[in-house]
Amino acid sequence: MKEKAVTVVGAGPAGLTAAITLAKNGYDVNLFEQNNDVGLRFNGDFQGLENWTDEEDTLKILSRIGIKINFLCHPYSGNDGLFYGPKLQKTQVNTSRPLFYLIERGSNDNSLDQGLRTQAEEIGVNILWGQKLDSVDSKTTIVGTGPKAADAIAKGMVFKTSLKNQFIGFVNNKIAPKAYAYLLVNNGKATFATCMFEDFKNEKLYYERSLRVLKSAIDIDVFEPKEFGGFVNFFNEPIISKDDKILYAGENAGFQDALWGFGIKYAMLSGYYAAQSIIHKQDYYALCERYLFPKLQTSLANRWLFAHLYNPGYTFVLNKMKSMDDVIPALRKHYNSSISKKIIYSLARRWYKTRLIDKQCMHEHCDCVWCRHGKLAHASTEVC
Ligand SMILES: Cc1cc2nc3c(=O)[nH]c(=O)nc-3n(C[C@H](O)[C@H](O)[C@H](O)COP(=O)(O)OP(=O)(O)OC[C@H]3O[C@@H](n4cnc5c(N)ncnc54)[C@H](O)[C@@H]3O)c2cc1C
Repeated sequence: MKEKAVTVVGAGPAGLTAAITLAKNGYDVNLFEQNNDVGLRFNGDFQGLENWTDEEDTLKILSRIGIKINFLCHPYSGNDGLFYGPKLQKTQVNTSRPLFYLIERGSNDNSLDQGLRTQAEEIGVNILWGQKLDSVDSKTTIVGTGPKAADAIAKGMVFKTSLKNQFIGFVNNKIAPKAYAYLLVNNGKATFATCMFEDFKNEKLYYERSLRVLKSAIDIDVFEPKEFGGFVNFFNEPIISKDDKILYAGENAGFQDALWGFGIKYAMLSGYYAAQSIIHKQDYYALCERYLFPKLQTSLANRWLFAHLYNPGYTFVLNKMKSMDDVIPALRKHYNSSISKKIIYSLARRWYKTRLIDKQCMHEHCDCVWCRHGKLAHASTEVC
């Protein structure tokens, strides 16, 4: 046993990044994962590593924090896709660099989750599979156990198709209340899902409508569809440590983009900073305050603004984006802290309450949204 030992809980992007960073710096890392593999919360669905909130390209950030790209990671620029407004009006945007990098989630070989697992194992992280750790003792521990309550949900399918690599985003409250629906296609595989920030009990209705809208927008063939669902949890203010010994990272601490749910970068960076704070005996809070909190707060302010746009507002925003030479700086500006965003944040943090745990659904053999998404029930809405 090395002198320097750290326990990490949860083998998601947050926990694995923390474990890799610590192991690279000579720490003895025991990583507890409740499942017998990584990525079991996901379904081989495509997600995006966003590339608009930072000046530095996301792949450069990953390289700087010591993460190798040993997983599917495909750049998508503005001209690789389209956005559709509420009346199916098409918008193509210009970007000077990739808008996002498409990655796969789940336990498949080329998923982000397996890539991080390989990097962790190669550097000597000891992963204890099938070990659920609900309480931790006073030893230094990083907890990255993912979301605990559903503030937004997604319902969709993964399938095979003959379409070429492309993406489509739909904004329309009739199919994705206060959110968006998305199609991501890569190399014969595709993910289509609709997301919602409210009215979860009607998820099936929104999903059916979104499928109809997709089919009226493009000619698409669907083979071997498999349905999936998921949820994200954001806080009005992250809760990042207890007694300075237990450090929380990733979505479990509230590191989630409240605007659109792009939480992977936050998860990985918070795992990295939690590890850095142990390695260099730095204050984790100070690191988060410098590098992560300002954008998180702005994302909550943006969530509040977006939720008050409604369909005419989405059309207005898309029209504005269409006329821009490059939407990346404009999007980044929206994530920058400013006096107006701080004022809106102080309003939004009262509007959106942090929910640490959802009520459990007590019904047996139930097919409600909560049971399918992991035996969770919304604290404030009717269950199944
Ligand atoms: C459908 C869907 C689409 C999404 N799309 C995007 C996207 O396009 N871009 C983006 O950036 N983000 C996206 N997100 C959000 C993103 O997936 C999450 O923010 C990210 O996975 C959070 O990482 P994490 O490490 O904090 O948690 P997780 O990925 O949830 O990992 C937590 C791990 O901890 C384990 N665990 C939990 N409790 C315990 C315990 N008690 N003991 C041991 N192990 C435990 C879990 O099994 C899991 O492996 C999406 C989410 C969903 C649901």
